[in-house]
Amino acid sequence: MATGKINVSVENIFPLIKKFLYSDHEIFLRELISNATDATLKLKHLTSIGEAKVEYGNPMIEIRVDKDAKKIHITDQGVGMTEEEVKKYINEVAFSGAEEFLDKYKDAGKDAGIIGHFGLGFYSAFMVAEKVEIITKSFKDEPAVRWVCDGSPEFELSAAEKTDRGTEIILHIAEDSTEFLEDSRIRELLTKYNKFMPISIKFGTKTETLPKPEGAKEEDPAPTQEVDDIINNPNPAWTKKPADLEEEDYKGFYRELYPMQFEEPLFNIHLNVDYPFNLTGILYFPKLTNDLNVQKDKIQLYQNQVFVTDNVEGIVPEFLTMLRGVIDSPDIPLNVSRSYLQADGAVKKISSYITKKVGDKLNSLFKNSREDFEQKWNDIKVVIEYGMLSEEKFFEKAEKFALYPTVDGTYYTYTELEEKIKAMQTDKDDKLVILYASNKEEQHSYIEAAKAKGYEVLLLDSPIVPHLLQKLETSKEKISFARVDADHLDNLIKKEETAISKLSDEEKDSLKADLEKVVGEQSGYTVQLEAMDSSAQPFIITEPEFMRRMKDMQQTGGGGGMFGMGNMPDMFNLIVNTNHELVGEILNTKTAKKRERLINQSLDLARLSKGLLKGEELTNFINRSYEMIK
Ligand code: ADP
Ligand code: MG
Repeated sequence: MATGKINVSVENIFPLIKKFLYSDHEIFLRELISNATDATLKLKHLTSIGEAKVEYGNPMIEIRVDKDAKKIHITDQGVGMTEEEVKKYINEVAFSGAEEFLDKYKDAGKDAGIIGHFGLGFYSAFMVAEKVEIITKSFKDEPAVRWVCDGSPEFELSAAEKTDRGTEIILHIAEDSTEFLEDSRIRELLTKYNKFMPISIKFGTKTETLPKPEGAKEEDPAPTQEVDDIINNPNPAWTKKPADLEEEDYKGFYRELYPMQFEEPLFNIHLNVDYPFNLTGILYFPKLTNDLNVQKDKIQLYQNQVFVTDNVEGIVPEFLTMLRGVIDSPDIPLNVSRSYLQADGAVKKISSYITKKVGDKLNSLFKNSREDFEQKWNDIKVVIEYGMLSEEKFFEKAEKFALYPTVDGTYYTYTELEEKIKAMQTDKDDKLVILYASNKEEQHSYIEAAKAKGYEVLLLDSPIVPHLLQKLETSKEKISFARVDADHLDNLIKKEETAISKLSDEEKDSLKADLEKVVGEQSGYTVQLEAMDSSAQPFIITEPEFMRRMKDMQQTGGGGGMFGMGNMPDMFNLIVNTNHELVGEILNTKTAKKRERLINQSLDLARLSKGLLKGEELTNFINRSYEMIK
């Protein structure tokens, strides 16, 4: 048997880096600025512990594009490198100086916020450059060095002129990457990836207007000056302690994050944990509108203040992806597939931590200012209802703050609602029947009828409500939901005695026969005679709750589809109030033709009231009505 070492030829590695290491070529700038930031943070740490005896000062990183010479310069004032260090850190691909630093300085180093990790970031420069130069001078008293490499494994190392501390990286941009020689493109990248990095980043200059000197005349122009254009905010709100932030600071940060958003967020949630994983961030509940901006401004994921992605799928529970804000965690493995990510233990903990924090926040908002919470309910309910539906833990938590508003604008918690309707709305099986409307306009006559009986009617109008009701009915034993136009009326035990029918049995039989003859032409209708209060409408169409809800669920996806039911047939009940004057009149009408006309017209009115009369039928109905009043 023989053992040996596989010889990885470096010659083969460069093309690989260029092609596959990062799918996005644009991240080269993020990587180089991260290294410059690391170098500066290292110096900060070393000066603070007295290991580097130099003035730390107020260092910055400068980006310069030289379009004519086809070069990009990235210059920092950090630790720099000695010749030995260049050989060690740069020439050895996949040896991370950042990791070495962290090992050496352990926890203290961790707090320094070092970004680097894999020892591959630097080589991403070759994705856009045909030649890379490093000119660097260490903070240690050693001569400056120059390293040049044209993308082949050969490099050149020589003495350099540089006298000030730090590193300058010069990228000689390749023919296929000249887009990066445009100022606008670089500015775009800087704002995308580096907007909140901890060391100031300068990109060119800008003109600043100064206050006018005292005694200046009205017409004198205000003086101006050229100042460094610093593109980043090195101390974004999420890196601060919640105690040090006011409401205004959170709102200000929201505007910084989404400059194109003009609507203020409803409230924010400051995330801050360091055990068992490290995570900071601020989430915002936006006012959700129907426009598609919702999709555009998403939660952004950072690692040590470096933007990574705005695809937080798998890290943030799905129902919270409608929120906005930032999450910063060095503990999220990113070089792995999303499905692996979802199975990762640390990531699962992060996801459930976020869920818990959001639940706690909602609970405290509700407790501290219920009125305010009620006012916001319409804007936040979709997120909460979706969360209740998809996360069991959240469902339990939401018991305390999920609200059930009535059509008249009273907001009940579930417990309050139960208490309120207990006496009135129980059915034969002793179940609480909770009536709701999904549309106040369309179901107006049904709502009025229910209210006239003294019933409470909720207004539940989000699209996922049918699914949520299904969930509530299975998780709570003795309740069932019924939409106001559902066939619940006969199930409810009415407070008042059932009215006595004015019609004899023979009369009822003959009426029913007439009705069925007409209604028989409409598919899916069942006729039901009922003795109701004479003030109730004569003809009412109801729809079985179960069938209708399944149909609704099919429309919003999931739910009904699960049962494998294709298109569900329409099923309606035509309830005829035998105590209504009109019904008596129909019965007393002598000619069959005329009776049929009255029934048809009444049926159409009932269908109109339920929004079922459309198209040709509606036109016919209207024409017929004009004929009648002519
Ligand atoms: P990582 O950042 O993951 O350690 P990189 O490939 O990005 O890996 O960089 C390799 C090493 O090169 C760094 O760890 C650091 O020691 C050194 N280095 C790169 N850029 C600079 C810089 N601007 N100043 C000082 N050292 C640098
Ligand atoms: Mg790096």
